[in-house]
Amino acid sequence: MTLGATDLWNRILEQARPGLPEQAFRTWISSAKAVSWSGGVLQVAATSRFHAEWLEDKYGDVVHDIAERVTGEPVELWITSEGPPAERPSPEITVTQVVAPESVASAPSSPPPPPAGLNARYTFDRFIVGDNNRLAHAASLAVADRPARLYNPLFLYGSTGLGKTHLMQAIANRMLADGEAARICYIPAEQFVNEMVTAIYEHSTDAFRARYRSYDLLLVDDVQFLRRKEHTQEEFFHTFNVLYNAGRQIVLTSDRHPKQLEGLEERLVSRFEWGLVADVDRPDYETRVAILRKKADEDSVFMAPEILDLIARRCTVSVRELEGAIIKLLAFSSLTRQELTLDLAHVALAGLGEPKEPPLLNPAAIRDEVGKVWGVTGDALASGGRSRTITEPRQVAMFLIRDLLDTPLKQIGRVFGGRDHSTVIHSIRKVQARMDDDDTFRAQVNDLRQTLEKSA
Ligand code: ADP
Ligand code: MG
Repeated sequence: MTLGATDLWNRILEQARPGLPEQAFRTWISSAKAVSWSGGVLQVAATSRFHAEWLEDKYGDVVHDIAERVTGEPVELWITSEGPPAERPSPEITVTQVVAPESVASAPSSPPPPPAGLNARYTFDRFIVGDNNRLAHAASLAVADRPARLYNPLFLYGSTGLGKTHLMQAIANRMLADGEAARICYIPAEQFVNEMVTAIYEHSTDAFRARYRSYDLLLVDDVQFLRRKEHTQEEFFHTFNVLYNAGRQIVLTSDRHPKQLEGLEERLVSRFEWGLVADVDRPDYETRVAILRKKADEDSVFMAPEILDLIARRCTVSVRELEGAIIKLLAFSSLTRQELTLDLAHVALAGLGEPKEPPLLNPAAIRDEVGKVWGVTGDALASGGRSRTITEPRQVAMFLIRDLLDTPLKQIGRVFGGRDHSTVIHSIRKVQARMDDDDTFRAQVNDLRQTLEKSA
């Protein structure tokens, strides 16, 4: 007997219901409608793009597996949205539309507590200025002294470990040191996304919104994490407007120029460019030596000039790398109880900074790099192998390719021996689901992503 789309969907709902919290079931699953069921493809329409993304992300696997069980055949699940883009979620979750007229909270009578997430060491005093960061540094100082007057927003970009977070926080630390009773918020964009999701779940979006609209200085770090998070982008867009119009200062950082932030709404990109966009680049040799000297001073250790020279020549990519080399050297010297000499430094830093070809970030390179971590070749990942040692890195590689490069699913399939796009979706979902549940796995994938990003 062949089932109609609606019958099939109803059977899936019946089976999914007992295994899920009632609220989640009604909000995310039963509110979707079956559209068609033919040729092994079950098409389901969610009420909005946000709903579709959520359903696919969180419950795609469950629904898919039940569908295969019910039909007894392979099913490709397509979740589409019928509503306008990024509409608010379905009726069971009440989210008030963006409040109008938009207003910001008035100043509190007592001084606000120092913001969470601020590192007191990230000050202008401890920041070495070179040609690589001169503009970014000058603009940050100007913003700290005259918030919302000169550059709003201030947008700092550059690859990892070059001092963006340091500069951004130096603005906040200086304003606090000057005794300004400013309400300051520092938040990594990734955390903003998580809080947004929690707020939706807990029906507390109004409080979430009100809080973010109450700050005098809002620092959002690594806004590249907002890419492809349409709903959060929309929320952030409104927050941005409210703060901006109220004359509050906004500072943003990213690993790339706003124009390169694909997956970010055009209206956000254009706002990011309203103020000043300044880059931080790799430090040159002299700046690297100056940074090293400063770090050694701060730690009250003496390092001979030839040792600083050695490190500065070896570590050219980022300041974080320079710091890592100092730490490594000090650890080595104290563990082996040897004096810090140039010879010892050569031994301790062996292998560091030796010229290596960075893998260019393209789908095949990511596949091969991920393979290396699991000890399998790229070819093995592209093969039909189904053992766990192969399927796991294959899924992670697919996930990272999508995440880092936004490569179309079909194209990802091609890099893995011509797998079809539903297999790719399935793999990506598996990785996402496991990242939600398994902290170790999530950390592993995130580390790998960072390593790949650094090599780009
Ligand atoms: P990013 O946010 O760009 O990835 P961070 O701000 O986290 O980089 O900087 C990485 C490390 O390098 C931090 O410990 C920071 O203090 C240090 N650092 C970066 N640039 C400088 C600089 N110009 N002078 C002193 N320390 C720096
Ligand atoms: Mg940073």
